[in-house]
Amino acid sequence: MPIRPHKCPQCGTFTTHIHDYRMTKIKHLKFSERKTILFYRKRRYRCTCGKRFAEQNPIVERYQRFSKEWNQMAQVRAVKGKTFK
Ligand SMILES: [Zn+2]
Repeated sequence: MPIRPHKCPQCGTFTTHIHDYRMTKIKHLKFSERKTILFYRKRRYRCTCGKRFAEQNPIVERYQRFSKEWNQMAQVRAVKGKTFK
């Protein structure tokens, strides 16, 4: 993720000061028949007022939605596979 000015949820000031990074695991049960885990380095910003907050990140949400849909699709396929047996 590129560094972008983030609006402080407390005072409304825009900041690009980085507080720290946290490694986040995004689990994905099945992807191409393999267990997949994504590692996402979550950035946290720090405002001049002292407030610390996580960066806005549309990727995780989007990816989790995709994971859900993928798992549902995989389940449907598994059921169909059983009927064919
Ligand atoms: Zn602030």
